[in-house]
Amino acid sequence: MFPLLKFSEKQVEEYFSRVTPEMVRASLDKDRHDWFDLLNLVSEAAYPFMDEMREKARAAKLKYYGKTVSVYAPLYIGNTCVNSCKYCDFRIQHQGTVRRNLTMDEIRLEGEAIRAGGIDSLLIVAGEDPRVNTVEHLAEVGRMLKKMFSNLSLEVAPQTEEGYRELFKAGYEALTCFQETYDQELYKEMHPAGPKSNYENRLWTQLRAGRAGFRILGCAFLLGLGPWRREAASLAAHAIYLMKECYESKIQFAFPRFCRVDGGFVPPCEVDERDVDLMMLAFRIVFPQCCMTVSTREAPKFRDYIVQVAADNMSAGSRVTPGGYAVLEKEHAADVAQFTLTDRRAPADVYAAIKANGQEVVYKNWDNRI
Ligand code: SF4
Repeated sequence: MFPLLKFSEKQVEEYFSRVTPEMVRASLDKDRHDWFDLLNLVSEAAYPFMDEMREKARAAKLKYYGKTVSVYAPLYIGNTCVNSCKYCDFRIQHQGTVRRNLTMDEIRLEGEAIRAGGIDSLLIVAGEDPRVNTVEHLAEVGRMLKKMFSNLSLEVAPQTEEGYRELFKAGYEALTCFQETYDQELYKEMHPAGPKSNYENRLWTQLRAGRAGFRILGCAFLLGLGPWRREAASLAAHAIYLMKECYESKIQFAFPRFCRVDGGFVPPCEVDERDVDLMMLAFRIVFPQCCMTVSTREAPKFRDYIVQVAADNMSAGSRVTPGGYAVLEKEHAADVAQFTLTDRRAPADVYAAIKANGQEVVYKNWDNRI
């Protein structure tokens, strides 16, 4: 569990088993919600209330975000990695992956290709390789891309607070760091070696970034590793803690679901689409002001639905390989992705679907005046 929680895994499981329809009803009827409401709304007892939860979530999203969906794209700048995450094909031991770190010219080419599709918010992603992705290098990448994009986010190895200050100065303003699992034993098992095996260092990443000025702090667990209700309880506790400690930043939730591929890692606790739906509705109701992203791993139909009722942010036209937008095409090389994309639509098709559902596409929603 999230270490500052006063409840053990057993106690949280026991609580879930005792939630009644009346408790779900009471949580739904409240105007202000707490951690226990989140537990009630993701419990088994909440399934019969999903239609009502959908309407409540839709109203909460409308109140804080209007009928809008912000769009972004990830840019993978490199996939060398010193970590050993058992579920990822970028792990150091995995032989089958073609490794590559893009040059500054290649990063610019990728950026231009993404920008040509209308995207103005960019998420920079890289494997953890301290020889390549130093703060200096990431800052140089940020300064270059900031001339092309209004908003820059980072999903790279955890940095020090000082490192985040440098990166904030270089133009990054949002950070995503998935804890993968809040269960410390399971975390150890899934991350046996490399810097990522340090649970605590990863856990306080958002805190360091928030103290360094980052405006958006992204939190998530990887759906499929641990029992999802327990993980959701920890995620909510983590978010509540960050809201107090970093009150000038906004929390952003993501719900990345492990998608099984033939011959690949088999997730111990698979999660189905209905559960993702329930969880996203519950988080929107309990944390109406927080940002929420729907993963590219979900099917187009689900993504188009969930941005109408819960999520306010989605990727469009994503490629999850270094060079996947322009460089590989130029070289006639194969696309070896970090995970399987379910939504492979072009950005224009994603925008058209958003508009067809009565929502407005937001390309840029923030100006940094610093
Ligand atoms: S999940 Fe991230 S840190 Fe782990 S092996 Fe993959 S790229 Fe490296």
